[in-house]
Amino acid sequence: MPYDYDDQNIFAKILRGEIPNDTVMETEHSLAFRDITPQAPVHVLVIPKGPYVCHDHFAAQASDAEIVDFMRLTARICATEGISPGEGGEGFRVIGNAGEHALQEVPHYHLHILGGRNLGALLEKQ
Ligand code: 5GP
Repeated sequence: MPYDYDDQNIFAKILRGEIPNDTVMETEHSLAFRDITPQAPVHVLVIPKGPYVCHDHFAAQASDAEIVDFMRLTARICATEGISPGEGGEGFRVIGNAGEHALQEVPHYHLHILGGRNLGALLEKQ
């Protein structure tokens, strides 16, 4: 898959410690931190530490260990942030933007975990 990773993106700089972040949780292969412009009371970004551009790049190229670590971390965030319906929370949405049509701003794979309020419809009607 011909993805070209730009190591000057803002999340790469966060991973290298060049830019501060509000870390929620860190694991061997992944980092979760609060979005600088939160769209909901809970807005956490989860990123792999490896150089992946977006969802299909990560899902196709990352090791099993990276993928499991990343997915388990998203579950732990939902639980600890109190938004998991399985833990008595009121629900959440996970969003992964990729490329131009999704208006991906930062070309390092990330999932947005959003919750803490009613999030409305998935997409605006055109
Ligand atoms: P995208 O549109 O790429 O899916 O979302 C990128 C997200 O990264 C946006 O929600 C934006 O607010 C967030 N963001 C951009 N720069 C920074 C930063 O320097 N620190 C943090 N914590 N979040 C950032």
